[in-house]
Amino acid sequence: MTEEELKNQRHKARMAKKKALIDASIASATKQKGLLIVLTGNGKGKSSSAFGMVARALGHGMKVGVAQFIKARTDTGEEAFFSKQPKVEWHVLGDGFTWDTQDRAKDIETSKRGWEVATRMLNDPSFNVVVLDELTYLLSYHYLDSDLVLDALINRPPMQHVIVTGRAATEALCALADTVSEIQDIKHAYRDGVQAQLGIDL
Ligand code: ATP
Ligand code: MG
Repeated sequence: MTEEELKNQRHKARMAKKKALIDASIASATKQKGLLIVLTGNGKGKSSSAFGMVARALGHGMKVGVAQFIKARTDTGEEAFFSKQPKVEWHVLGDGFTWDTQDRAKDIETSKRGWEVATRMLNDPSFNVVVLDELTYLLSYHYLDSDLVLDALINRPPMQHVIVTGRAATEALCALADTVSEIQDIKHAYRDGVQAQLGIDL
């Protein structure tokens, strides 16, 4: 046997072992449940990951609700695309960034009104997936009561998936979540002076 053939043979044996382990691990994951997913961290990719899951869910004919907190803009590509889909309910519930509004009392008022829209979806089992985009800020700024939010998440329909995005997710939210990903900021074109690009950033 040549050196190359020997390498190929060892590779095949290693992969067969790996496949057996992976197959056993997949077979042992048998539970079904509505997941709470938190996408946090300072890197780019939190909201766009959530919208990727929205596309997946729609592909399976599922009904999706999206509540966008903080942001006021209604000219994003995701809204233009997804709000046209018959199985999507899309709400832009923000007033703008805190440094734009500069009005804490108004931000709290807006947050509470937005939360009412979110709770309606969290109480409605016909929504298979609910995205609460940038919700973390409402918790970290204490615009919403943390227990109130966590209770609504706990008491949602058992098969409903909820995806929460935003920087600095609180410990309590992460503790409650089933899946938490923290996206690390390694570099961002913005710091190189590049404007937000259509189709990539909005
Ligand atoms: P995206 O919507 O692109 O997935 P995100 O949800 O992870 O981004 P946000 O904090 O919601 O991040 O910011 C949204 C906007 O800010 C996007 O235009 C994104 O490209 C930009 N952005 C995200 N992370 C950074 C960063 N570390 N530095 C500068 N701009 C960023
Ligand atoms: Mg975002």
